[in-house]
Amino acid sequence: MEKERRKRDVVIIGAGMAGLTAALYAGRSGLSVLVLESELVGGQIANAAGIENYPGFLSVGGSELISTVQNQAEKFGAVVNEFDAIVRVDLSAQPKIVETESAVYEAGAVILATGMKRRKLSLTEAARYEGRGIHYCELCDGQAYQGKKVAVIGGGNAAVDAAEYLSKLAAKLYLIQRSELRADAASVNRLRGHGNVEILLHTEPRALSGDKRLTAVTIFDRKAETAKELPLDAIFVNIGVEPNTALFADQVKTDKAGNIIAGEDCRTNLDGVFAAGDIRTKEVRQLTTAAADGTTAALGAVKYLRSLN
Ligand SMILES: Cc1cc2nc3c(=O)[nH]c(=O)nc-3n(C[C@H](O)[C@H](O)[C@H](O)COP(=O)(O)OP(=O)(O)OC[C@H]3O[C@@H](n4cnc5c(N)ncnc54)[C@H](O)[C@@H]3O)c2cc1C
Repeated sequence: MEKERRKRDVVIIGAGMAGLTAALYAGRSGLSVLVLESELVGGQIANAAGIENYPGFLSVGGSELISTVQNQAEKFGAVVNEFDAIVRVDLSAQPKIVETESAVYEAGAVILATGMKRRKLSLTEAARYEGRGIHYCELCDGQAYQGKKVAVIGGGNAAVDAAEYLSKLAAKLYLIQRSELRADAASVNRLRGHGNVEILLHTEPRALSGDKRLTAVTIFDRKAETAKELPLDAIFVNIGVEPNTALFADQVKTDKAGNIIAGEDCRTNLDGVFAAGDIRTKEVRQLTTAAADGTTAALGAVKYLRSLN
């Protein structure tokens, strides 16, 4: 059966801070707006506990912050749909095509706000332990490991910050990094100040073990070329992020890391296609910059649609 064709002024892909802010601004400008989300609304911040650097709040939970922005967007008519996966996009067509499992949307403009996901541990058995000792979000899952033995894998600022956060909960905290640390010296010194922290450099995980849950990891010392088993209750993987561009990477220009190339005006190489939030090439990836991009992209879409008439 042929899918129903539906027209929308703007289709926004991704319902994180950038996408929802874009929905708020585009809806408030009187446009018909659809936001499509492949997982749960909220993106990376959905499960974060106390966010202390979003202006206007001394401390706010990610879900509370995001659901407020969603409510604001919906108040201005935007529709947020997290149950209709996108199967195809054609971004150079006019109107642009966004085909989901249930319909074909014809959109005047498209805002790409698909953000990032954490890079996964490349050991084949890692998927088996995901949520059972292998974790990717210390703020979401760290509390479960109070008084336990925990490791963070990675050596950048994000990994060192994660290790510092977890060192306050865990009885023992290992930071395992395959080469040298890349984090700034101040963060590393702060981490070293915790008596329960051990930093293992030139070391990498080679195998995971445990029956129903993770109980140990085999680590390999790359300099000494020796392996040993480390009893552990959890590993928090923090080895970088990957932009979510699989859906459209062959259509919009991206940089070497896969981020969509777009300037402060959020315009991509394609007319009427905007990139907002962490998915865009930029220096600072935060909630405030995601919200700023959502604003700019939406107002850019309004201007673009006006120019078509
Ligand atoms: C643990 C953690 C804590 C953080 N803490 C802070 C903090 O305290 N303060 C701060 O300012 N920043 C913080 N950040 C950074 C901040 O979360 C990000 O900068 C911000 O969430 C980026 O928003 P975004 O909308 O661009 O992307 P995301 O939040 O990544 O949202 C993108 C959305 O697009 C969806 N999506 C992806 N692919 C598709 C597809 N094909 N179809 C439909 N939908 C798709 C995703 O599921 C996701 O919901 C934190 C990040 C993490 C991971």
